[in-house]
Amino acid sequence: MQDADVIVVGAGPGGSVTAMLLARQGWDVLLLDRARFPREKVCGDGLTPRAVHTLQRLGLESRVANHAFAVTHARLVAPSGVSFSLPFDPHVSPLPPRGYVLPRLPLDDLLRQEAVAAGSRFLAGARVRDVLQDGRRVVGVVVEREGTVSTYRARLVILAVGANIALLRRLGLVFQPPHEIVAVRGYWQGVENLQPALEFFFTRDLYPGYGWVFPTSEEEANIGIGIYRSNTAKVLRSAAQVLRSFLQGNDELRERLGRAAPRAQVRGYPIRTDFPSHSVAGAGWLVVGEAAGLVNPVTGEGIDLAMESAMIAAEVAHSALLGETDARALWPYAWRLHRRFGHVFRGLRRLRPIVMRPRALDILIRKAAKHPPLAARIMGITLGTTSPYTAFLPSTWGWILF
Ligand SMILES: Cc1cc2nc3c(=O)[nH]c(=O)nc-3n(C[C@H](O)[C@H](O)[C@H](O)COP(=O)(O)OP(=O)(O)OC[C@H]3O[C@@H](n4cnc5c(N)ncnc54)[C@H](O)[C@@H]3O)c2cc1C
Repeated sequence: MQDADVIVVGAGPGGSVTAMLLARQGWDVLLLDRARFPREKVCGDGLTPRAVHTLQRLGLESRVANHAFAVTHARLVAPSGVSFSLPFDPHVSPLPPRGYVLPRLPLDDLLRQEAVAAGSRFLAGARVRDVLQDGRRVVGVVVEREGTVSTYRARLVILAVGANIALLRRLGLVFQPPHEIVAVRGYWQGVENLQPALEFFFTRDLYPGYGWVFPTSEEEANIGIGIYRSNTAKVLRSAAQVLRSFLQGNDELRERLGRAAPRAQVRGYPIRTDFPSHSVAGAGWLVVGEAAGLVNPVTGEGIDLAMESAMIAAEVAHSALLGETDARALWPYAWRLHRRFGHVFRGLRRLRPIVMRPRALDILIRKAAKHPPLAARIMGITLGTTSPYTAFLPSTWGWILF
């Protein structure tokens, strides 16, 4: 006896979009989250043009835009203080010429509501403790809710649990926390000179890592830092202090934040960027979004990739549900994720240690400020719209050297 056709665990962007698309196809979907919504999620709140493109395809851009602050360009600031800005120009990239900044409390609730409006049943405060298995096949989940433990069965279980790896451990997919970035953010009211831009800052003190200023309105910004491959526990313990030292150590930000006041507590969380490090599909199960390690290893952006993987998951799941939800029917999901993201992740990971050094960034950003084609290429690679392998083309080196 099944409780649903599909159980989706996690109502972040990955889970809610998967649930919405499958419910739109007429499947009985049960969406579970340990949190009660609307809930906060520690994030930079930045929606890249790539995320906007996916929202357009899902028919959700206008709903998001009604609540969000629109941004029209990106700005990169080198450790030397030199910077360049580049509009999200349709001539440079085929994506929409805009991004948005929208805190996750409204964004995730909006996406969850869309899943419910499409017909999904949503259960809040439902912490999934384990997966039910029949041999090697996943047949349901064990849920703890309000002190009671229950089991729910379905033909397909989709894990969209973000960076929480407990269930993936149960499935034997992950053994160590594979965190590659630790990120910390706060909100400041009264920030001066806020532009409609996603601003990225690189400083010597923050090496290896980056800072960001993403405006949530004309006066307020989500400000944070991401640190690559660091001691997760240590950074999270001293989150507020690490962020404060970054802001104090950067001349431009110190000035712009002179009269600003923090609005909310500084909070941090690890980010998984380790795709492709484990299976994402098997008999009766799929893994979507950050739970599959799908976050850009350079910028830490993962909302766009969570929604894109959700679209692929929903297509493959729909075909499988029409017949058998066995490993063979679900395998095309893994293949399609690898085809779309595999080489991009390998390229970004190869590029990161070469490029993300203070000296290299000083040179790159100084040259890009004078040479728009180089600026466009750097921005495209950073935002995931241009192949990272274009960094190794003779034209890129020509622009840098001459
Ligand atoms: C500080 C920081 C800044 C970031 N900035 C950006 C940014 O500006 N732009 C961007 O695109 N990305 C950013 N990211 C990355 C982005 O937050 C994630 O990539 C994105 O949220 C992934 O979406 P998801 O749906 O896969 O998982 P999540 O959004 O993490 O959702 C997972 C859901 O699963 C639920 N859950 C987990 N375990 C269980 C369980 N056992 N039972 C039931 N429910 C469970 C959680 O409550 C949660 O609601 C940032 C991340 C951090 C930490």
